[in-house]
Amino acid sequence: MLEGLMMHQPLTISALIDHAERHHGDTEIVSVETDGTRSRSDWASIAANARRLASALEGRGIGLGDRVATIAWNNRRHLECYFGVSGGGRVLHTVNPRLFPEQMAYVLNHAADRVLFFDRTFLPVVKALRPKLETVEHYVLLGSRDEDALTEMPDLQFYDELIAEGTADFSWPEIDERAASSLCYTSGTTGNPKGVLYSHRSTVIHAFASALPDTLGISARESVLPVVPLFHVNAWGTPYAAALTGARMVLPGPFLDGESLVKLIDEEGVTLALGVPTIWQGLLLAAEKTGSRLDSLKRTVIGGSACPPAMIEAFRERHGVEVLHAWGMTELSPLGSVNNLKAKHLSLPETEQHALRLSQGRPPFGIEMRIVDDAGRPLPHDGKTQGELQVRGHWVLSEYFGAEPGTTLTEDGWFATGDVATIDPDGYLDIRDRAKDVIKSGGEWISSVELENIAMGHPAVLEAAAIAARHPKWDERPVLLVVPKEGESVSEEELKALYEGRVAKWQIPDRVIVLDEPLPRNATGKVLKRHLRDRFGDVLIADEVG
Ligand code: AMP
Repeated sequence: MLEGLMMHQPLTISALIDHAERHHGDTEIVSVETDGTRSRSDWASIAANARRLASALEGRGIGLGDRVATIAWNNRRHLECYFGVSGGGRVLHTVNPRLFPEQMAYVLNHAADRVLFFDRTFLPVVKALRPKLETVEHYVLLGSRDEDALTEMPDLQFYDELIAEGTADFSWPEIDERAASSLCYTSGTTGNPKGVLYSHRSTVIHAFASALPDTLGISARESVLPVVPLFHVNAWGTPYAAALTGARMVLPGPFLDGESLVKLIDEEGVTLALGVPTIWQGLLLAAEKTGSRLDSLKRTVIGGSACPPAMIEAFRERHGVEVLHAWGMTELSPLGSVNNLKAKHLSLPETEQHALRLSQGRPPFGIEMRIVDDAGRPLPHDGKTQGELQVRGHWVLSEYFGAEPGTTLTEDGWFATGDVATIDPDGYLDIRDRAKDVIKSGGEWISSVELENIAMGHPAVLEAAAIAARHPKWDERPVLLVVPKEGESVSEEELKALYEGRVAKWQIPDRVIVLDEPLPRNATGKVLKRHLRDRFGDVLIADEVG
């Protein structure tokens, strides 16, 4: 081999924050603090505090590769942990506070976290967890000294005091780019959560790819609002992509209701916001109520669950905001695909372009996708044939953290996602279902996502879930559960009529049940279909008997 004669510099998280400090030092980081105040910092101060934190952790004897956990909102100090912990060669483990307490204890023990940083909100949670935590030595409140909190936890330490022990003159250690940088656990709807251990290299490559114009389009001209939490797959990698490009960040703290978000977007001139569909539902309702036109907002990235077409339309028609529908997973850092058009689509009539924008989009360079049948045989990418989606790439996991080696991937090295999808010849992915949620009626599959999208098009519907209910003749038939918006009502007949002419007759739900409570959701906001099946899975049999 004739070796290339180019420099080899490790792709590290410390290099990202160095770059942001050097070239975008005065770019603002706005942070809504846990007490509701809004603070203003910039990349230069984030970088200096990150170095102070890294040197303070070193002073405390926290070694390279040791795990440091956070239970925190999207705020300035949490962002500093992203760069200070990982940049210093330790592993940042962001814990989802919406996990059940026993799952939180499980992940903290499984990760063997030595330090736990947390926001004031979570003091009661941490106090209750503490007797179960086997490895945490330092409990650190993300804030200044707080005498009230000290009465509750006498050995509590304070972030502002801890970083004052460190120095901003600290030099980052030299780290192998393959070293672990951060750790996230999947939400584990069945069994224990599983850890995904990202590396510096995978994180930096993911940051490059996610910032591209054909993915999220993050640049030094954007004000980025990650509504998606820093504890949900690294806020989809936005802190890293923002440091890489020098984007301005606006961090919403714990205030994720529609009205607070509309106010923050308008007052801070947010241009790009990212989050799951339920968040945007609240935001659209609040914008309608307050009359806000969301003038500054150009794009929203929506993913984590299927984005209903009605939501894409509402953003476009009412606010002139372009929705980028994205698909990803914890196991993929998380970005798998984003919906952006190609040049050849731009000459199509608008309605056709809009139709193309509904799917989960296509993968950027760095991710390969295929769909397979039950026997694992690859299926055609014709936009019609559906199969289980498998992926591989630079930022896809190779093993779960602590798992038996060789048990995470298929024999030929792909990661099986558990999603059922079609892929068209242009590479556009259409997620039809989770494999365990498909509805099999007389041997034919009915897409629950499609049924839900149609229901969500009804103006009075707030939430919808289609589930498989047992049926004596067809094995399973679709049953639709809907939650109306506050003060609105819908009838079963009205909803069933919505399906006429939009799906084949045999795909129309047998029953529509209107609920007066929100759908059950897991820690990352996904509808818990298993719970719904336990509760409503026999309604058709009951009908039959009745
Ligand atoms: P998590 O690892 O918690 O982010 O969950 C990943 C799962 O969320 C995927 O396997 C999908 O089932 C689902 N998901 C994420 N984004 C989308 C999307 N845009 N449309 C449909 N499902 C999605």
